[in-house]
Amino acid sequence: MATDYDAVVVGSGPNGLAAAITLARAGHSVLVLEANSSIGGGARSAELTLPGFVHDVCSAVHPLAAGSPFFKTLPLARFGLTWIQPEIPLAHPLDDGAAACLHRDVDLAADSLGADSRAYRRLMKPLAHDWEKLATEFLQPMLHLPRHPIALARFGIPGLCPASLLAKSLFKHEPARALFAGIAAHSFLPLEAVVSSAFALVLGTAGHAVGWPIPRGGSQTIANALAAHLAELGGKIDINHRVENFDDLPKSRAVLLDISPWQFVRIAGNKLPARYRRRLEGFRQAPGIFKIDYALSAPIPWQADVCKRAGTIHLGGTLDEIARAEREIARGQIPEHPFVLVAQQSLFDETRAPQGQHTLWAYCHVPFGCKIDMSERMEAQIERFAPGFRDCILARHKMSAVDLEKSNPNLAGGDISGGATNLAQLIARPILSPTPYRTPLPGIYLCSASTPPGGGVHGMCGYHAARAALKETLG
Ligand SMILES: Cc1cc2nc3c(=O)[nH]c(=O)nc-3n(C[C@H](O)[C@H](O)[C@H](O)COP(=O)(O)OP(=O)(O)OC[C@H]3O[C@@H](n4cnc5c(N)ncnc54)[C@H](O)[C@@H]3O)c2cc1C
Repeated sequence: MATDYDAVVVGSGPNGLAAAITLARAGHSVLVLEANSSIGGGARSAELTLPGFVHDVCSAVHPLAAGSPFFKTLPLARFGLTWIQPEIPLAHPLDDGAAACLHRDVDLAADSLGADSRAYRRLMKPLAHDWEKLATEFLQPMLHLPRHPIALARFGIPGLCPASLLAKSLFKHEPARALFAGIAAHSFLPLEAVVSSAFALVLGTAGHAVGWPIPRGGSQTIANALAAHLAELGGKIDINHRVENFDDLPKSRAVLLDISPWQFVRIAGNKLPARYRRRLEGFRQAPGIFKIDYALSAPIPWQADVCKRAGTIHLGGTLDEIARAEREIARGQIPEHPFVLVAQQSLFDETRAPQGQHTLWAYCHVPFGCKIDMSERMEAQIERFAPGFRDCILARHKMSAVDLEKSNPNLAGGDISGGATNLAQLIARPILSPTPYRTPLPGIYLCSASTPPGGGVHGMCGYHAARAALKETLG
């Protein structure tokens, strides 16, 4: 059959671009089709509030990009990607005016946790030491023969535990417990759920091994660097091109879909075998988020001084408070005191805001598809740890779970993870297979965050899907 391209990639998110680069590097002609008017999916930046204020539309903080085994092989610095490491990756303030900190250095982080320092050091030091081995193990499908079984077991045994149980059994005091709970809440799972600890261990370990860096100029620079490298390899990107039907695609030998399984079902229609289709329809979504970007007249007046030196701040108070908020969300209820994640990029990157002024990126978890405006509740949480915050606000840009879905169908119901990350869906993502990227349609592969290893800007889903396409379809 005469083809226009060897491969077509639908979607220019980090995974779509990673897939396209992997194919282009193998010498294949590749076209990427992007529905939006700008490339990057979850890695975009824009002046959402006022002129001169550059906001990260979706992702902001990038331990997984900095630690991505695939991104490490790419010349992204040559195409303008520079990582900025805030002095402290993460701070977690408490009501007594102090804050627990995830410092880059494990010993420094442990020492700052007082009486829990030994327990923290014992848990995190071996994991931080083994980061390179662990990153290759967990940034691929779960069904594989481990190359580093001892390192994996050291991670997997505590990782399987519910976060609240592990934190309460390891740590005696609130700072360490709250710090662990806040990082575990990135799982979007109730903290009583099995495997919620794995998220605290992965992101905490990454914080020590590679930091929680931000890209100079905004997350768009990650997508731009990937796209520039793709162009150098001969790949092409068409924007404003939404794919609604496979029959409309240019002719190619392989198609890689940086889209959700639910969209795949809609687009593929009755071409999918009933069993596979049922499996995708049964793939569960995670809760959603409500996001606000702020233009500020001044830095945030944090009560805990240490927060002024941290890139990311977790606002939710104690372990029990965070656990309650996440439990409520899992039950479909709106928490009165939500767990709020904040990034203050402009403190470390002067390109983000006019001189002396600042940006703030913040979101909280909400039930799937929630339409409620969470700004009052989020601002109450920020104000709790930074009295006077509201006086600094020049402008806000809000995105509800529903707005997020409108901006990108991969964010259905405001789910930013590409589907729930419970144990079952970490193993079968979206199906149980050592090659879950393969679909029953010949030459068609899924490569979005709904495939292993899941959400985050790391490109590993795209990389593994492209490797499968190279092996099975493109040769
Ligand atoms: C608000 C928010 C905050 C986040 N924060 C972080 C963070 O700080 N750090 C982090 O690592 N991760 C973060 N994430 C998660 C991260 O952004 C995603 O996991 C990641 O972008 C997934 O990449 P992807 O390539 O699978 O999909 P996406 O990034 O969603 O890209 C998919 C692309 O495909 C396009 N597309 C979809 N359907 C079609 C179609 N039919 N035709 C053509 N094009 C189509 C979309 O427009 C989009 O550009 C965040 C996400 C959000 C939304």
